[in-house]
Amino acid sequence: MQVKYGIIGGSGKMGREIESLFDEAGHKCVFKFDVIGEWKSGNPQVIIDFSLPQALNNTILYVKKFNIPLIIGTTGLSVEQIESLKTLSRNVPIVQSYNFSIGMQMLLKCTEMLKENLPDWDVEISETHHRFKKDKPSGTALMIRNVLGKNVNISSLRIGNVPGDHTVYFGSLGEVISIKHSATSRRTFTEGVLKSVQFVMGKKKGLYSFNDVLFQNKRK
Ligand code: NAD
Repeated sequence: MQVKYGIIGGSGKMGREIESLFDEAGHKCVFKFDVIGEWKSGNPQVIIDFSLPQALNNTILYVKKFNIPLIIGTTGLSVEQIESLKTLSRNVPIVQSYNFSIGMQMLLKCTEMLKENLPDWDVEISETHHRFKKDKPSGTALMIRNVLGKNVNISSLRIGNVPGDHTVYFGSLGEVISIKHSATSRRTFTEGVLKSVQFVMGKKKGLYSFNDVLFQNKRK
């Protein structure tokens, strides 16, 4: 089934990648909003936001106006902004994640397992991203820290054109385990966004994670 969708941040790096994959999959972009303004050729059935936190107020207004689901991957959101998404999700379904790659979900599961088995080991996170990334540390590094459940150190590098590397280190006095995830292309995130659109279209309301998108049906 063709989905008519809207993008907030449509002319950005992720916005352009999303449009390219969704075109291939037969879906149609009918609405865009970014710093250069609004473009509309029809009513969207879902809104996808990959922009900056400053755009969130407008995103919320559009989701309310069209009364449709939201997929949001924008990073650097404040605690208040996450709260406003929770409030919005009382009326519409939302998938919010700082990382839409399957591999990162696996890294989070491995991190959880190592945390449970190695409670006394030192833990650190490092992340590397392209020079244009605005937020530091990355949203994904914060997700990993959230799984660890403690305020571990995060080291950040901003260099070249790296789409996103994250490593979690567990160390004792005699050994170190490191688990690393590298996004080698933005396409991995856009494939996750496509899965999330298919997931969210069947929901009435609620705040979902990308983990829910991948595993909720398997858990039932
Ligand atoms: P980008 O800078 O290339 O694009 C940002 C877009 O947002 C542009 O189109 C810009 O016009 C728009 N924008 C900026 N301020 C705006 C405003 N006030 N109102 C409306 N639009 C505004 O960035 P990008 O690399 O495409 O990344 C976009 C976001 O997605 C970032 O927050 C990034 O960290 C995040 N991201 C998330 C994932 C994920 O899996 N969740 C993956 C990659 C990137």
